[in-house]
Amino acid sequence: MKPHTVTAHLNYFGELGVTGLSKDPVWRGRGAQARQKSAEVETEASVFAGTGSLEAIRSDLGECTRCKLSGLGRQQIVFGVGNPSAELMFVGEAPGRDEDKQGIPFVGRAGQLLTKIIEAIGQSRESVYIANVIKCRPPQNRNPEEDEVETCEPFLFRQIDVIRPKVIVALGAFAAKTLLRMDAPISKLRGREYEYRGAILVPTFHPAYLLRNSKGKREVWEDMKRVRGLLERGP
Ligand code: SF4
Repeated sequence: MKPHTVTAHLNYFGELGVTGLSKDPVWRGRGAQARQKSAEVETEASVFAGTGSLEAIRSDLGECTRCKLSGLGRQQIVFGVGNPSAELMFVGEAPGRDEDKQGIPFVGRAGQLLTKIIEAIGQSRESVYIANVIKCRPPQNRNPEEDEVETCEPFLFRQIDVIRPKVIVALGAFAAKTLLRMDAPISKLRGREYEYRGAILVPTFHPAYLLRNSKGKREVWEDMKRVRGLLERGP
């Protein structure tokens, strides 16, 4: 690889707060492209700073044009909202129309339902942290594409590493499958706990799904009782 190409990659990973090759299966489990990037990082990236604060991550993101979603009609980046030292974090797929307009995740109808779900276990939107895998709205709310996920998700990883939540709730199939690198329906992924980046990850149905299928509410309540139990459990 040419030196300037290596430098460009290292700058990119430096912006992402990557300090060296991770042994984390999250990094190792991606496809060949991601493994190649990790190998490049292993070569020389140890000079970069740590993950820093949420403000530093937001500043590194800037007016991001790193993937094509920047030019497909987004109004603004939807970074994340809530308590920077939250014990509980929610991760969804990507902003929708209302979120894109307001710059805040989960503010539409599905967001209002999420707020009720959060409050049902004695938490509030202010006590938790809410973010998405992807920070810009995909056109027509289509699913994010693989290259978009690969470009954007390292910023979410940095957010998780700074917040260090005890529990992460992955909302819906896309977030659960993307974070866990598992290709299974959400109905198969939910109902159990997974170790994830120092936290316990609990997958559940997306609130938008619940708006269409009220029969999933019982399962979501079971998942949220599990979350409450995990939060109450000592370290
Ligand atoms: S989706 Fe993420 S990587 Fe793509 S432009 Fe938006 S912030 Fe940047």
